[in-house]
Amino acid sequence: MKVNRSNFLKISLLSAVSALISNCNTQSEVTAKDKALDDVIVIGAGIAGLSAASSLKAQGYRVVVLEGRDRIGGRIWTDRSWHGIPLDMGASWIHGVDRNPISALAQKFNLTTLPTDYSSNILYDREGNRLSDAAQDQIDRRFKQVIEQLDRLRKSMDAAEKPDISLEIAISEIIRKMNLDRYELEELNYSIATSIEHEYATDISDLSLFNWDRAGDLEGGDRLFPDGYDRIVQGLAGNLEIRLGQIVKQVTYSDRGVEVVTNRGKFQADRAVITLPLGVLKNGSVQFSPPLPSQKVKAIQALNMGVLNKVYLRFAQVFWAQNPHLLNYISTNKGEWSEFLNIAKYTQKPVLLGFNAGTYGISIEKLSDRQIVSEVMQVLRKIYGGSIPEPEAWLITRWGSDPFAGGSYSHTPPGASSADYDALAQPVVDRLFFAGESTSNQHPATVHGAFWSGEREAKRIVTLAKKT
Ligand SMILES: Cc1cc2nc3c(=O)[nH]c(=O)nc-3n(C[C@H](O)[C@H](O)[C@H](O)COP(=O)(O)OP(=O)(O)OC[C@H]3O[C@@H](n4cnc5c(N)ncnc54)[C@H](O)[C@@H]3O)c2cc1C
Repeated sequence: MKVNRSNFLKISLLSAVSALISNCNTQSEVTAKDKALDDVIVIGAGIAGLSAASSLKAQGYRVVVLEGRDRIGGRIWTDRSWHGIPLDMGASWIHGVDRNPISALAQKFNLTTLPTDYSSNILYDREGNRLSDAAQDQIDRRFKQVIEQLDRLRKSMDAAEKPDISLEIAISEIIRKMNLDRYELEELNYSIATSIEHEYATDISDLSLFNWDRAGDLEGGDRLFPDGYDRIVQGLAGNLEIRLGQIVKQVTYSDRGVEVVTNRGKFQADRAVITLPLGVLKNGSVQFSPPLPSQKVKAIQALNMGVLNKVYLRFAQVFWAQNPHLLNYISTNKGEWSEFLNIAKYTQKPVLLGFNAGTYGISIEKLSDRQIVSEVMQVLRKIYGGSIPEPEAWLITRWGSDPFAGGSYSHTPPGASSADYDALAQPVVDRLFFAGESTSNQHPATVHGAFWSGEREAKRIVTLAKKT
């Protein structure tokens, strides 16, 4: 069935090959002569799927990408409904620009990126008063102490071969000995929310003490795309064959190949790269026949999907401090409206972006847009006074209830480890290949991790083809 690459090119040139991926609805004709290399179905047109598909296409494979939504990009999603103000509803930053493949793509596609300076921030207390630099330093110092003690506790528990516990249990143990008053506790909770829970998109109660921060970081600082992150996926999509609105329902596989059933028809290929988010694998909306191996099922259950939601507010004009990158607030209840990104800094437009993660981030998904706006305005009025205007418009994400994501990104709860990410990445009978952020043991929960995972699986398929 397989020929080498030069033969493939020859065949392509001679026969102006018809579509190899056979959509059983359209019954495209496939002859043995046409069949040069394996055909591959990629499920999901997020960054992992596009990365896998473009790598395979570059190697001469014929690939079709099936995407359930009516757009590409998945958790990279730029809303352009506020004309002239592209807003990223999913990923915003290239995390660590050095040796990051997304930096290389930004350069290739000639995209502007701007740095975020996380130390450029103003912190407000629960009454909305601005804290001095000295007071902020004190809060940062106390948080650093907690992190150092966490590290020590982890090492001693590891050495004593004690079982994993949650970060929350570990932190409570540490805080108990610190004799903090109510306000100091709120300050520490603010640090925990903005530095840990927003980053991991979950409560500390759902993070493993042993493994919560085991992933690798890239250096060089973070940069965002003032013209929208979607330029990356558009560039990558190039001239790939992408079918939108194809909601995958079932994947059947055997040693002969793969059949994928969507809401609109059936597709067959030699192999499939599956980039379904962990949240989708968890909710069981895609059936596998035969069922996935128990190791993979265990990993799907062991890892969790967290929630980080964004609320963009557009005002008639900027009434907040123009200069800082971030505006932070010490809320009475942990993690409620504790962090705002000053979008005006990057776009010169009067827009603020509020973040909420974990329990509070999930809970607001049930509220109406107006209720959410009313909650955030109470906080902004505490800080900037009762006379600030209502926003002109707002955009609000609900990643937890998004059926094509089932949350924002994966994390490692107590008892789970990077071995679960590895299990998620394992191919099944050399027919099903798995990519996506939740298959990256080194860079989960990131765009670059997802991108690399797509390349990894493309390489795996190419290597396999060379062996057989
Ligand atoms: C709010 C938020 C902020 C983030 N911030 C950052 C950041 O600043 N920097 C960073 O590096 N990362 C960030 N991330 C994480 C990053 O966006 C993801 O890790 C990455 O985009 C995941 O890519 P993926 O290809 O693995 O998954 P996805 O992008 O989710 O792609 C999977 C695709 O599969 C499709 N799909 C799902 N179910 C089906 C089905 N049944 N049939 C067909 N198609 C289906 C989906 O629609 C989707 O297009 C953020 C994520 C969120 C939600």
